[in-house]
Amino acid sequence: MKLEDIKKIGVVGAGTMGNGIAQVCAMAGYEVVMRDISMEFAQKGLNTISKNLDRLVKKDKLSAEGKEEILNRITLTEKLEDLAGVDFVVEAATENVEIKEQIFKDLDNLMPSEVILSSNTSSISITKIAAFTNRPNQVIGMHFMNPVPVMKLIEVIEGLQTSKEVTDLVVALSEKIGKVPVVIKDSPGFVSNRVLMPMINEAIFALYEGVGSPEAIDTIMKLGANHPMGPLALADLIGLDTCLFILQVMYDSFNDPKYRPCPLLVKMVDAGYLGRKSGKGFYDYSK
Ligand code: NAD
Repeated sequence: MKLEDIKKIGVVGAGTMGNGIAQVCAMAGYEVVMRDISMEFAQKGLNTISKNLDRLVKKDKLSAEGKEEILNRITLTEKLEDLAGVDFVVEAATENVEIKEQIFKDLDNLMPSEVILSSNTSSISITKIAAFTNRPNQVIGMHFMNPVPVMKLIEVIEGLQTSKEVTDLVVALSEKIGKVPVVIKDSPGFVSNRVLMPMINEAIFALYEGVGSPEAIDTIMKLGANHPMGPLALADLIGLDTCLFILQVMYDSFNDPKYRPCPLLVKMVDAGYLGRKSGKGFYDYSK
């Protein structure tokens, strides 16, 4: 398959990441079929896209007709079969290995053999996902960053069996949708989370040991390392449950104590303090 052969893109999952991916693909001129497990979830994803585009219209970066054209390129469905006609798939469903296994087995049965199946997983091995299919050389990671319409990076992750042609095509497609692809090999946490999560974890250890307040730790990293946001505020934004999950995956995969999640992080997740989404994390968001 060549870049010109890709006309229609299937997005599996219409949540935080899926609707952002559908938006950037439709904005680049692609027809998009966005699938979730119910029409209600799919419609919710489309509403988010519509609101995002409204913001661009308000800023005069997009015309009202342009917005309608983008929305008209997106079809919603709850049926997997409706993905049959797409030329490329980005999977952005819930981060759960059993769910991804079912999706990739179903897609593999449904799609012609030349169709590339990519996954936006943050923590599951691309090699493992590829092995759920009979086309492991056609499976690759496309790790978009949140929020997708704003963040430029796509970590392009080659599984053990991913072919060079597939990587080259995904790099070209990533550029076509206005992103900056960086190719790496499959490894737990990839590069983004492998470097980011130990820093966040260390910041939590510093808090746990009473070295400094959340404000002190975050201000030091903002002003001292020129980070736009401190590690504890960033953890609250990502979700403390997600941070714990990714650290646990790296800890188990590498079998290395350097990834041991801080006991305070575990305790906060147990208490339901998940960050912004629950109203409380290292900071209070209730007001
Ligand atoms: P989310 O919970 O916001 O959305 C997931 C969506 O997938 C839900 O709407 C759910 O109904 C749907 N879904 C579940 N099973 C499905 C199925 N079988 N078919 C179709 N849809 C199904 O999650 P999210 O944050 O968008 O994460 C999606 C993926 O992106 C995960 O693999 C995650 O690791 C990855 N990711 C997330 C972020 C982030 O910051 N949120 C960043 C990078 C990558």
